[in-house]
Amino acid sequence: MEDLHVIAVRHLKGKDKEVIKMFSSPEEVFEKEKKYMMPVYKRPRIVMREGKGATVKDFFGKEYIDCVGGIAVNAVGYCHPVVVKAIKEQAEKLMHVSNLYYTEPQVELAEKLSEKSGMDKVFFCNSGAESVEAALKLASKVTGKHNYIAAEGSFHGRTLGSLSVTFGSRFRSVFEPLLLKGVKFVRYNDAEAIRTAINDDTAAVVLEPIQGETGVIVPSEGYLREVREICTEKGVLLILDEIQTGFGRTGRWFCKEHEGVEPDIMTVAKAMGAGFPIGAMLAKEGIEFEAGEHGSTFGGNPLACTAALASINVIEAEGLVERSRELGAYFMKNISDEGDPGVVKEIRGKGLMIGIELTKRCGEIVEKALERNILINCTSESVIRLVPPLVISKEEIDRVISVLCEIIK
Ligand SMILES: *Cc1c(COP(=O)(O)O)cnc(C)c1O
Repeated sequence: MEDLHVIAVRHLKGKDKEVIKMFSSPEEVFEKEKKYMMPVYKRPRIVMREGKGATVKDFFGKEYIDCVGGIAVNAVGYCHPVVVKAIKEQAEKLMHVSNLYYTEPQVELAEKLSEKSGMDKVFFCNSGAESVEAALKLASKVTGKHNYIAAEGSFHGRTLGSLSVTFGSRFRSVFEPLLLKGVKFVRYNDAEAIRTAINDDTAAVVLEPIQGETGVIVPSEGYLREVREICTEKGVLLILDEIQTGFGRTGRWFCKEHEGVEPDIMTVAKAMGAGFPIGAMLAKEGIEFEAGEHGSTFGGNPLACTAALASINVIEAEGLVERSRELGAYFMKNISDEGDPGVVKEIRGKGLMIGIELTKRCGEIVEKALERNILINCTSESVIRLVPPLVISKEEIDRVISVLCEIIK
């Protein structure tokens, strides 16, 4: 084995000494991307290279304050030293060995997740969409039913199953008909509409506690509680998709806590591994797969679980859940005080999950913010979504507010 290592090292030395070569200009990256990659992502012509805390630097060392946060993934900030150290140490021991064997990080993380979420049993996977797939399969299995109710405006992922419960025609249209046939979409924030839509073959209701991709839509207080009561009364499972809202994003560990609602099944991913890909489906006691009914080659491998454990420990140790609550309130208050009411239609959100709805399209504002070293993104045509790392500082928030308000004017 040692001999083979030596060969690989010698081979790399003959080239650029590194596995990844240094590009001489961003244009070189753009060209290669165009030649070799499917054009699924529309992105500004910037190459990102490194990050620290709530900031990220591009090819030329230009530094941005990041309010996109890897799409609500980088909760503990870029390259948190505790997470980096944990990943390095685990990588030197064991990255992957498959689920044919037990590993310690996996059970350790399962316990931690159960403790934080109030759910009983965990299934590990590698992304958000996969956790939704697992949830839909599980709901069908335990109820023996195959119809689902989802909300207008929902986003649950892009695999064929999760896409079946995703609303937007921009995600669905060219792929229809989709996998699941019995999906009914009802108005979000209308619990009675769910009661009406339930039939004898309804397995579950699938909801985001705050709709993320559609523009940070926060339902009225009491909505989720009412939905919970209806589901219990009708014997239908409630699946909460906390992929975006989980791990402190909304100022609670999980968004369901704002309403004291317990789902039967919950999906998580995004911020879970601090950037290392990992997802999980959690369920209450008695709602579970049996041996062989589901699985994943990578799901919950030791490296991913170690990254997630480190990330959760950091959120806990640094009080990031409370920080999200406080800074989110500060952000929203200050931006409402300073924002031009002619352009800013509504500011909404919970914790550091904030939507700014404008009276006009926001594409141009995103570009202008970028020129001024701030990353934001547009979730629907006129809503700016801010989901920065929870470690963002007050000074950084002040800077974002002043630049955004200037641009909006
Ligand atoms: C991002 C997201 C997903 C999909 O997650 P992927 O990891 O991209 O598959 C599903 N549901 C919600 C609420 C999300 O925000």
